[in-house]
Amino acid sequence: MTNAIAPKPGILDIAPYQGGESHVPGMRDVVKLSSNENPHGPPDSAREALRKVAHLLHRYPDGSHATLRRAIGEVHGLGPARLVCGAGSDELITFLCTAYAGPGTEVVHTRHGFSMYRLSALAAGATPVEAPETERRVDVEATLAAVTERTRLLFVANPANPTGTMLDGAEVTRLADGLPPHVLLVLDGAYAEYVEGYDGGAALAGARDNVVMTRTFSKIYGLGGLRVGWAYGPAPVIDALNRVRGPFNLGTPQIAAAEAAMHDRAYVARSRSENARLRAWMADALAGIGVPSDPSFANFLLARFGTPAEAEACDAHLRSEGLLVRRVAGYGLPDCLRITVGDEAACRRVVHAVSRFKEGAV
Ligand SMILES: *Cc1c(COP(=O)(O)O)cnc(C)c1O
Repeated sequence: MTNAIAPKPGILDIAPYQGGESHVPGMRDVVKLSSNENPHGPPDSAREALRKVAHLLHRYPDGSHATLRRAIGEVHGLGPARLVCGAGSDELITFLCTAYAGPGTEVVHTRHGFSMYRLSALAAGATPVEAPETERRVDVEATLAAVTERTRLLFVANPANPTGTMLDGAEVTRLADGLPPHVLLVLDGAYAEYVEGYDGGAALAGARDNVVMTRTFSKIYGLGGLRVGWAYGPAPVIDALNRVRGPFNLGTPQIAAAEAAMHDRAYVARSRSENARLRAWMADALAGIGVPSDPSFANFLLARFGTPAEAEACDAHLRSEGLLVRRVAGYGLPDCLRITVGDEAACRRVVHAVSRFKEGAV
């Protein structure tokens, strides 16, 4: 055997993305709270749209995603020419790294930032660089200090995953203002819809030539299985992303269902208010039994335990009760568990199970 055929440098440094678990061997009726999915599933409007396009599957999709971009533009008040859609926001993160990063360049993310930033940077041959956070929150100054002349992209999710914390508008502006002109700030707004009145960074991405915003249909829209995301930003950035994008990266069902979901404002509003109510209830109840969490702006809580061993033992107990949450040791948070805000019954079961665990009753 020779090593004549080898992947490019960086590829073998990629540890495959670990998704949230959805099964426990031998157990039925598990409650999946490990992937920040909408517990109420997709809106009926999206299911109906899917049914309607079933007879069109022999036709190639509209490669320009015109109807979907128009729907997003109408709802968010954004010009469709500055929107681009991808197979999940994951694909847009990949496009950004493909277009702007490569060997000899650096991609900055923060200590507990979403792992796809690092993976996509490595796949593009770039070097991922980690900036420290302060108390599980993005630290503007520390992040800017991690930027060098080799930096091309800076990824910040706001609200962040897995911490659930958020920068305010002034902090995000300070971040954008503090970057040298060769660095593009990517504001990942995967959870933006959960924050009442927040635009996800759209105004900044509309006004600056160094800011782009990514969004997804995977979270509040309940369409993670469909794979649709979008980005809004400066015309030259959108042009670059369109050049690296495959011409038919979204299928007809994706375009149709996402368009219907985008117009379903009642579904989004209901999901947001229900999430806020149950998130507050669950955070208070867990804090009351000695499991604190930072104020979360998203659809999950980062529950903190005394030690990594305690977090691991609680995870095992929850699993034995059919409740799947997310261990986040890989994100540098070994004493924490990330728990998606489920429906009311799921939240009650989680609190009950953690409470029994803390009492030492299990
Ligand atoms: C879930 C999530 C996404 C969404 O990814 P999709 O590919 O759109 O499903 C993006 N960024 C962050 C931080 C997330 O948590």
